[in-house]
Amino acid sequence: MLRFVLLNVACLAVFTLSIDFFTLNSVLAKQNQLSKIKESPQISIKPAVQFSQIPILGFHDIVNKNNSRQNPPLRRSFDTDYDKDKLVEVLTYLIQKDYWFLTSDEFFHYFYLKDRLIPVEKNSQRPIMLTFDDGYEGLYSNLLPLLESLNNKYQKQVKVVLFINPALMGIEDGDLKYTNCNQLKEGLEKGFFDIQSHALTHRNLTKIKVAELPFELGKSKFILRQCLKNKKVATQIAYPYGSQNEKILEYVTLYYETAYLYNNKFFEISNKKNNRYLIPRLITSRDKTVKDLINIIERAE
Ligand SMILES: [Zn+2]
Repeated sequence: MLRFVLLNVACLAVFTLSIDFFTLNSVLAKQNQLSKIKESPQISIKPAVQFSQIPILGFHDIVNKNNSRQNPPLRRSFDTDYDKDKLVEVLTYLIQKDYWFLTSDEFFHYFYLKDRLIPVEKNSQRPIMLTFDDGYEGLYSNLLPLLESLNNKYQKQVKVVLFINPALMGIEDGDLKYTNCNQLKEGLEKGFFDIQSHALTHRNLTKIKVAELPFELGKSKFILRQCLKNKKVATQIAYPYGSQNEKILEYVTLYYETAYLYNNKFFEISNKKNNRYLIPRLITSRDKTVKDLINIIERAE
């Protein structure tokens, strides 16, 4: 028992040290960034106030309906899967409408903290965030090539936020495959993937012992950063199943800047009651047509 406690304390100390290290780095990065803002003529003093809500969509796997290995009976299907061809249509529409595909860092600084001024060229763009949970292999085999081909065609880089469980990286669970670290790194280095945490093992955080929270939250951050070697990785988290409570929020604040839910609401840019650890997301599912998704997105005021 004592060994277990000491081990936990030691783990916590390591994670706390890494937090201090990353905090110091983020302060230095922020100072560096502020000096750049002062020098840059590209920055507007006018915030983008013409929109009051941001849609943050939550996808899971992206499947190709024309590939038999990605469909029953060779692979289970889930309500949360989304078809690649439908996603191409949705993204093409959003590109043509000149949407701003936010990274989690852009969302946090431009629209939550509002400590960065929105660049002039972004002022007329509508912000949106596209997130993908669980790290299924379809994010590498279907989503990444799709984003690359849209970039080649329209010269517009659609950035997506992936919430990953590092304990599942690279594994095969029967007919389900998960992306490995090298695949994630490729998408990150090409500038399409913003890699964030979905806790370590995808257990429901409300159903585990409080003593296990540092492990689920801290170790996830530690492993993702260790394999991807990037300080913007795992600064944010999405709760597995969207499940959280007050105790979990207390622990999440030790490791992450924001945390994402599923509650089918838009993010209200000017709502003073916004809680950075309860960021709303809209769940998507395979039964939603291209028109359904576009209608949901365009309902944002
Ligand atoms: Zn999940």
